[in-house]
Amino acid sequence: MSKLIIQTTELDFYFKNFKALDKVNLNVPEGSIYGFLGPNGAGKTTTIRILLDLFHAEAGQVKLFGQDLSQNKVALLSKVGALIENPSIYKHLTGRQNLEVVRRMIGVPKSRINEVLKIVRLMDNADKKAKNYSLGMCQRLGLASALLGDPDLLILDEPTNGLDPSGIIEMRELIISLNKDHGKTIFLSSHILTEIEKMATDVAIIDQGKIMYEGKLDGLHSNTSKFLEIELSNVEKAIEIIKSLNYTVSEHSSKSITLPILEKADTAKINKALVDNNIDVYQLKSSEETLEAIFLNLTKKLDQ
Ligand code: ATP
Repeated sequence: MSKLIIQTTELDFYFKNFKALDKVNLNVPEGSIYGFLGPNGAGKTTTIRILLDLFHAEAGQVKLFGQDLSQNKVALLSKVGALIENPSIYKHLTGRQNLEVVRRMIGVPKSRINEVLKIVRLMDNADKKAKNYSLGMCQRLGLASALLGDPDLLILDEPTNGLDPSGIIEMRELIISLNKDHGKTIFLSSHILTEIEKMATDVAIIDQGKIMYEGKLDGLHSNTSKFLEIELSNVEKAIEIIKSLNYTVSEHSSKSITLPILEKADTAKINKALVDNNIDVYQLKSSEETLEAIFLNLTKKLDQ
């Protein structure tokens, strides 16, 4: 099993009497793009604030890079770059000058500024004032700033929020490249399923402060129901054959049968049995719950 870069255990957090997080367990593997998905108000930003030691959980533990955050704050957080919603940018300064302010604070070599400008593709606009930047450019400048200290882990809160379609694509490509080409582990929150689906290797779904699912993105698909619909010549006889193979028919009409299956091999097995028994099979159609349906089902609300 790969190393965990973030591990939270049973985090609880309250705003006065309101329980915003309820036993939140997260396990973020090294090298992953980990999508933290949930509708508005689910608890994503609160969790991120706890990971960055900006809020303190009433109960539970946060480990970063295998070590307890509360015991090693400075050392651990120096390996983390973060972008939380709107990055703080001095609008009257240029992009480069903004990075210089942060560079002096964290004490990294000057050469690092050009390196991060190149990574986020802002070299050509580096000497323009930030007040003339598009929202997408501001986000990329925020990301450049988060990258200055060459962190091993990037925590990005809704990084594509408010961007236009080309800004979204640019940010997405950048995140994937930071993971693949620069070896960063990326923890990224979003309320937009399709965004997470396009980037993430691993996912956690949070709703009303509770984790509803955590695991591989593929695992979310494979845990879900698949159905096989078969159009055929002799429904009654086919039902008998299918039952004799220990499958359960969930629906049938005068022309077709529908049944839950686990894998592709089931389709082949059923088809062969039907054909061997002289039943004409006209069509085999398998369907799967979409990720969107799974997400809505897990969070029980429409929120896009
Ligand atoms: P969004 O995408 O809308 O930011 P989120 O998943 O990041 O949503 P949080 O901002 O973590 O959600 O909020 C979790 C819950 O805590 C929400 O019900 C929110 O209304 C509540 N909450 C957040 N900040 C405060 C606060 N300062 N005082 C009281 N309640 C708060």
